[in-house]
Amino acid sequence: MSLPFLNDFLSPYGLNVSEKKAEAFNRYMALLLVWSERMNLTAIREPRQIVIKHFFDSLTPALSPHFSPRGRLLDVGTGAGFPGVPLKIMFPSLELVLLDATKKRLMFLEAVIDALHLHDVELVHARAEDLAYDVRYREQFDQVTARAVASLPLLLEYTIPFVRIGGRAFLLKGPSVQTEFGDGQKIVSVLGAAFLSEERMFLPEEKAERRILWFSKQKMTPKRFPRKGLTKKGSSS
Ligand code: SAM
Repeated sequence: MSLPFLNDFLSPYGLNVSEKKAEAFNRYMALLLVWSERMNLTAIREPRQIVIKHFFDSLTPALSPHFSPRGRLLDVGTGAGFPGVPLKIMFPSLELVLLDATKKRLMFLEAVIDALHLHDVELVHARAEDLAYDVRYREQFDQVTARAVASLPLLLEYTIPFVRIGGRAFLLKGPSVQTEFGDGQKIVSVLGAAFLSEERMFLPEEKAERRILWFSKQKMTPKRFPRKGLTKKGSSS
């Protein structure tokens, strides 16, 4: 099965999916479908919907001038690899770290990395709020991202500590981010970051709205962040 429509969706934005990359997306989809029969990876099983709601959606940050196609990128709460793996397929120079608190999902990602022959990808099994205190990861990333992991204030606390000074965090959210933004704004500067921009996108065909929030890291995050016991307070949706 080829994925010409991923190219159709991306080429108007100047992104081209080569044969080799389309093949990698195909293999990724095949693995996603097979493994989803055994474990909870995605509720979406229709190939075209996977292309739109997982692959295209994961690549939307790359349509922004703030995105860098190289350097170290951390995907917090990556699950079945979104948005980290599609970004890595499209931009092989990225040094990718995929972080998740669920071991089973990392086993799936190990199979994906093997099958797609992806290089410079590290899998980390940990909770973000614990890993952020590891000096090998804290303030070490050029870019940090997360999709569908938590509400905005919590997500900022999970991601900003990992961003190096001068680096970026980009968070993939839906329209509900508007209601989360009030609380989120307060904590941005406390964490040492500044709000850069909000980009609105619509997924092809069904026109579901997506918002990408960009933040830049200005100074070091105070040592007390992320706070302990965060998950008890925040949503994990
Ligand atoms: N980002 C993927 C996506 O968009 O399809 C997965 C989203 S899934 C709803 C949320 C994922 O975040 C789960 O795999 C869960 O294990 C992980 N997660 C939730 N809280 C986390 C935390 N504090 N640290 C690391 N991973 C976390």
